[in-house]
Amino acid sequence: MRYQESAVESAELLRLILPRIAKHGGAYVPTTYALWYEYLAGVNPKLTAAVDQRLQDPAQLTQPEIEGFYAKYIDTREAGTLEAYQAGLSELMRRMGEIAASSGAGAAEFAQTLAQCEQELGGISDSAGVNRVIQSLVSSTNAVRQSTETLHKEVMATRDEMQQLRGQMGALQNLAQTDPLTRLRNRRGFEQAAAEYVQGSEADLGGCTVMIADIDHFKRVNDRYGHLVGDQVIKALAQVLQHNVKGRDIAARWGGEEFIVFLPETPAEGAVRLAEQLRLAFSKTRIKRGGKQEVSDPVTVSIGVAQIAPGQALEAAVDRADGALYQAKNDGRNCVRVAPSENTVAAEAPGPGAEPVAATG
Ligand code: GH3
Ligand code: MG
Ligand code: MG
Repeated sequence: MRYQESAVESAELLRLILPRIAKHGGAYVPTTYALWYEYLAGVNPKLTAAVDQRLQDPAQLTQPEIEGFYAKYIDTREAGTLEAYQAGLSELMRRMGEIAASSGAGAAEFAQTLAQCEQELGGISDSAGVNRVIQSLVSSTNAVRQSTETLHKEVMATRDEMQQLRGQMGALQNLAQTDPLTRLRNRRGFEQAAAEYVQGSEADLGGCTVMIADIDHFKRVNDRYGHLVGDQVIKALAQVLQHNVKGRDIAARWGGEEFIVFLPETPAEGAVRLAEQLRLAFSKTRIKRGGKQEVSDPVTVSIGVAQIAPGQALEAAVDRADGALYQAKNDGRNCVRVAPSENTVAAEAPGPGAEPVAATG
């Protein structure tokens, strides 16, 4: 017998043959298998030379070309080849059965055909018998290839659809979390972003700070200049916030003429500095009422600041910032007030008023 390779070597060759068939084309049939077996095992120099020459052309091998190589360089040789290819083909079928099973498409029928072919192959002693088995294999292989191609296309189409859908959902979600007037987050967007911060950092909110800013006497602005100018004022405060709030800070329109800012890992003093900066910047902002005319009265903002106590929920801190804001309004507006730290609240219950800060307007 002309094949001297051990079982281990044959298995190794098989591992090399399958990718060759996939790359260069041809059906998974003994002729293709034989071509690559002899080529890779280096047992047929004339075949190797002919195939090498053909492979200089990048076009895939056609099945007639493979049959041609087989007829010219392999089939003309002594008997015994049949046995070797039967063994190789059995292994090939086993592998293809595995592939078909893992692809899930038509796996049951294909596995059945393979088993039948393998059984038949054992009892065959002539090339007509092998041809019959091959014919049956070719048609079922094509069927599986077609159904896996369809499956593949379906999977790809579904994946594309899902990606599109995900994009649309993302856009919708953004829309639902954005305030249309200022393009800042709305209350829902703020709550979502704050929740993400908590999850992402796995941190306690203790040490973070929250502030609420509310435009002073805004009703007067609306009454005097109209709602459209009121909207301009709201937009102006949003811009001041956007320009002064950085990095992981989260600014949002809390509702009406109220804004909220969440400052991760920021001590109360730092938050008060920022609040003062915002208050001052806003008081200097000139609001245009169409053309060159400006809103003549200065528009100001009051701000309440609260540092979140260890273990405290965001909502509780927002309530405390609201309390400080109320204090700022009571103290004449256009100023910043800080909620007493939680420890102070616990020690001096019931809750005292907010603490004034040095620099106010
Ligand atoms: P204070 O200094 O105590 O905050 O007084 P204020 O007038 O600002 O407060 P008040 O809550 O009495 O009035 C808020 C006004 O804000 C009432 C509401 O009509 C107006 N407002 C709320 N949302 C909008 C908006 O989107 N555009 C405009 N132009 N006005 C709004
Ligand atoms: Mg208000
Ligand atoms: Mg107001």
